[in-house]
Amino acid sequence: RAKAAGRGTVEVFDEVLRRHLAERQELEAALDHALAAGELVLHYQPVLAAVSGSLSGYEALVRWQRPGHGLVGPDAFVPFAEQSGAITRIGAWVLREACHQLVEWTRAQPTTYGALRVAVNVSGRHLQDAVLLDDVRTALESSGLEPDRLVVEVTETVLVDVHEVGERLAAVRALGVRLSIDDFGTGYTSFGQLATLPADELKIDRSLVTAATPGRTDLLRLMVHAAHAFGLVVVAEGIEDADQLDLVRGVGCDLVQGYLLGRPAPADPLPWAPPRVVAGLGVEEVEKERGD
Ligand code: C2E
Ligand code: MG
Ligand code: MG
Ligand code: MG
Repeated sequence: RAKAAGRGTVEVFDEVLRRHLAERQELEAALDHALAAGELVLHYQPVLAAVSGSLSGYEALVRWQRPGHGLVGPDAFVPFAEQSGAITRIGAWVLREACHQLVEWTRAQPTTYGALRVAVNVSGRHLQDAVLLDDVRTALESSGLEPDRLVVEVTETVLVDVHEVGERLAAVRALGVRLSIDDFGTGYTSFGQLATLPADELKIDRSLVTAATPGRTDLLRLMVHAAHAFGLVVVAEGIEDADQLDLVRGVGCDLVQGYLLGRPAPADPLPWAPPRVVAGLGVEEVEKERGD
């Protein structure tokens, strides 16, 4: 009897595994198709100067308009694309699309958009591939975007092997683009490594912003201080309320990003055109202006 039950368990387990595998293969095949079919779209979230509130640029965030599934967020498909390797081709597309979009906005309204930047997330898997250099170069050349208006974001966790990845990052940065360390505070980068990273910007992870309170800002303050000492611009991400905005302003963050200041939105129509972000505008006024 025990034997029979055991065999039954194995059969159920097999069945679950088989279904998982089938789902994964289906997803991977669908993803391969998604790019060619034009099912991937970018949403753009504003990044603002912490003190003046003026618009600094946008972060491009990928979404998948998957037939029958609605709009799928990156957390639900980027890990699969990393496993299958499709992320490299997706990443190349994201780079091109974001650069072309910023150039298009700039052509339409040069005085308004001409100084803005666009940030693109690059996967660690893509970073391990030498093709990344060509992909960045192609995005810049085909769009005509000035290199220093493109920000390449890599998450802190891919920096574990700083020596190998560091060289690739330095080569990317040598193209003239800006380099940002994303989700900082979730990995194990030491302050000492910060000094040697070929980076321009540090993005403090949302979890650190969420964890901070007016009475407990020491960690944030220390991070900002160290980053500034190494010449890095500091961005605070995940700002959801006015208290958090006050707090990250107080510890000296340079740029801010979060639902409070603007949610990711499709490029067309762009809900966050710069004229609506007046320098020095208080958050309440911003919110009133947004009408929510
Ligand atoms: P990330 O680069 O750290 O991007 C910030 C994420 O936080 C975005 O989620 C954004 O929508 C969300 N967010 C922004 N403000 C707030 C806020 O105030 N509160 C909260 N709770 N969330 C906020 P999203 O778009 O779902 O992207 C998730 C992650 O997927 C990104 O984290 C990034 O690591 C990855 N990702 C997004 N687009 C791409 C891409 O084109 N390529 C690659 N390789 N990864 C991407
Ligand atoms: Mg990012
Ligand atoms: Mg981040
Ligand atoms: Mg994140």
